[in-house]
Amino acid sequence: MQTKLTPLIQKRPDGAEIDRILRSCVHCGFCNATCPTYNILGDELDGPRGRIYLLKQLFEGGRVTQATQLHLDRCLTCRACETTCPSGVQYGRLLDIGRGEVERLVPRSMRAKGVRFLMLSILPYRWRFKVLFSMAQRLRFLAPRFLRKKIPVVSSHSDRWPTFKHKRQVLLLEGCVQPSLAPTINLKVATLLDKLAITPLKIKHEGCCGALSQHLAAHRQSTDFIKHNIDQWWPYVEAGIEAIVSTASGCGVMVKDYGEMMQYDVNYAEKARRIAALTCDISELLLTEQLPRSRYEKGVTVAFHNPCTLQHGQKVVNAVETILQRQGYQLLAIEGAQDCCGSAGVYSFLQPDISERLLADKIFSLEQGKPAVIVTANVGCQTHLQSASTVPVTHWIDLL
Ligand code: SF4
Ligand code: SF4
Repeated sequence: MQTKLTPLIQKRPDGAEIDRILRSCVHCGFCNATCPTYNILGDELDGPRGRIYLLKQLFEGGRVTQATQLHLDRCLTCRACETTCPSGVQYGRLLDIGRGEVERLVPRSMRAKGVRFLMLSILPYRWRFKVLFSMAQRLRFLAPRFLRKKIPVVSSHSDRWPTFKHKRQVLLLEGCVQPSLAPTINLKVATLLDKLAITPLKIKHEGCCGALSQHLAAHRQSTDFIKHNIDQWWPYVEAGIEAIVSTASGCGVMVKDYGEMMQYDVNYAEKARRIAALTCDISELLLTEQLPRSRYEKGVTVAFHNPCTLQHGQKVVNAVETILQRQGYQLLAIEGAQDCCGSAGVYSFLQPDISERLLADKIFSLEQGKPAVIVTANVGCQTHLQSASTVPVTHWIDLL
């Protein structure tokens, strides 16, 4: 693709990167075939190729309107288009940069600003979210039906973190919403790692990974979170931890992108690269370990929803499937396994119509083979699927 970026964009530290990504697109349109929003809405501008055109227009100084913002807002950031693209276009990165610019140029309504402000003030802060969630749990019966479905019932549990002392050590990311929505996942992972003679370390002052702010184009907040985390984790990196492990693929993909995001910051670029390289999904770590036998009977039918953040973002395919099959589970083939479930961070709240359509399609595919259980690898997808499924939905780690 030919480009003619404005002098201002050319002078930006990421100007050359923007140019390179735009030029790598050859307009073939293959990506549209796997784009969920294009398939639902049928509008070229709601597909990756059209959005790339809109971003090109933006970076070349063309007209940027509320329509531009709407088409970009409707993108799930599922990155299925990246998996399909034969030219390796880094769509997600371009979209991230572009969303920041559009946010600066196109004002939002007071209502939209208010909603975003609330989301950015609560969701990335573990304790604020915990308080809100526990209130929501108590008042669940008062909530309208559509909202009630989104508030999972979580039973009380012990959150006492065991202390281990093995030579092999990893950092286990906690996440912001996972400790409230699915509090047992990390405890189960910690117990499993202990059996494998690996110490899972928990960082007391770990902040949000920054994904939510990044998706809402609050880039300054996102960068602050990233820097805070790098500062918190760095002493452990220097001390020789083996890996930084994520049990929520939405956080994992973000941390794996730290290197790319911080590449123009002289103080953090190198550290961010090291941290990104050390980061892995729990499935990547467990794939090479000798796991204890599962306590469930052999042959239980399982439908696995591989989150977009794992399969398209982190490009991890077949790790969870392989582990579960080794454990004796019968994995069902899922039609449209590459498609997003519509959760996508806060997308289900901001674009409920598209999100509900995707959810209905996904539930239909997952339940088609009549599984005993549906499993996934990201707390956001898990909660979203739970809101519509007639089959129990859980994190795949629960099956080990
Ligand atoms: S992003 Fe990739 S698949 Fe889509 S139009 Fe461009 S080159 Fe083709
Ligand atoms: S990230 Fe997903 S929704 Fe967005 S353009 Fe790519 S395929 Fe479509």
